[in-house]
Amino acid sequence: MSATTDEIGRVEASTAHNYHPLPVVLTEGRGAWVTDIDGRRYLDLLAGYSALNFGHGDEELLSVAHEQLDRLTLTSRAFHHDRLATFGTELAELAGMDLVLPMNTGAEAVETAIKVARKWGYTVKGVPAGRARIVVAGGNFHGRTTTIVSFSDDPDATADFGPFTPGFDTVPFGDAEALRAALTEDTVAVLIEPVQGEAGVVLPPDGYLADVRAACTTHDVLLIADEIQSGLGRTGRTFACEHFDVVPDVYLLGKALGGGLVPLSAVVSRRDVLGVLRPGQHGSTFGGNPLACAVGTAVVRKLATGEPQRRAAELGTIFAELLKDLPAVREVRTLGLWAGVDVVGRSGRDVCEGLLRRGVLAKDAHGSTIRLAPPLVIEEADLRQAVAHLADELRA
Ligand SMILES: *Cc1c(COP(=O)(O)O)cnc(C)c1O
Repeated sequence: MSATTDEIGRVEASTAHNYHPLPVVLTEGRGAWVTDIDGRRYLDLLAGYSALNFGHGDEELLSVAHEQLDRLTLTSRAFHHDRLATFGTELAELAGMDLVLPMNTGAEAVETAIKVARKWGYTVKGVPAGRARIVVAGGNFHGRTTTIVSFSDDPDATADFGPFTPGFDTVPFGDAEALRAALTEDTVAVLIEPVQGEAGVVLPPDGYLADVRAACTTHDVLLIADEIQSGLGRTGRTFACEHFDVVPDVYLLGKALGGGLVPLSAVVSRRDVLGVLRPGQHGSTFGGNPLACAVGTAVVRKLATGEPQRRAAELGTIFAELLKDLPAVREVRTLGLWAGVDVVGRSGRDVCEGLLRRGVLAKDAHGSTIRLAPPLVIEEADLRQAVAHLADELRA
């Protein structure tokens, strides 16, 4: 038995089967490259679902983390620590907002925003007690908690997990008319991914997000942009919303915010929104811990230079050009260094297994879609090579 087969057997014997990983066991990573326990190297075109926008083992992030590890890692929010203010200040500035509420996982940021939007609805908008509603888009992915799966339309996410949390209305993604029709006096927020990542990098139709923004403003409804996957450089801008000239009321960030080193998420908004929370009403033991704040600040500083965004935009242009020539595809959608490729005649899983044998890691999304999200630090030659492997695999 190879080391890989042996290790996969041990994983399956000891952990819950809530994932179906490709048959590879990774042990090291640098930049866009990872190595498995049999010593084979792969180009990582998933980048931890965009948590690894800055690649594996970024020197700057590692040195900040090492230094903070030796100094102070956790205080709980029962006390102040000297890494929170800088993180809050610099992240709020990057987003053009006032306040930051740090959490850990993306799902926690979404849950936090739901609570804040409801409280804002009752205390600021004047919605009668217990009536607040939030409008979401079909095909969404916002996380895995019981409340969040309550408004998922993916049967895998929901089956056997009810009863569900009420208070959500789903409208088709891309249909501004349907969204406008769903807004009532009780609607407190629209929660939306500007680009739907898990759905297969689904881009909004022209003018859609601007229409959503206008409808939210007219009806006094908060626009919450879930940029947990689309944000922080992935699309060639700091936020995907910028491509569509839309400024939401609330940004949800996660994944890349922790630099691939620590779980770190945040709700970023204006004072009149996040200001509704009072002590004791929300929190997290690990949220805003010194280690995460130190790493998060280093991530924000990288983005403040504009360099990762520029690189994603430049490489993204090349990427889109290369993907145009792929054989056996129905549609390719790209924005920055992010692509959804709909293949024909094969499952996405099958293509990803073929890619694995060719030394490229990617992940299928729904059925016949492959999602590609290389680290923004990938070398142009490596990107070209990876797409060449994909073309060869699709031709095979
Ligand atoms: C990944 C993701 C989440 C959930 O983040 P977790 O850290 O896995 O909880 C929420 N929203 C979007 C758009 C995501 O891509």
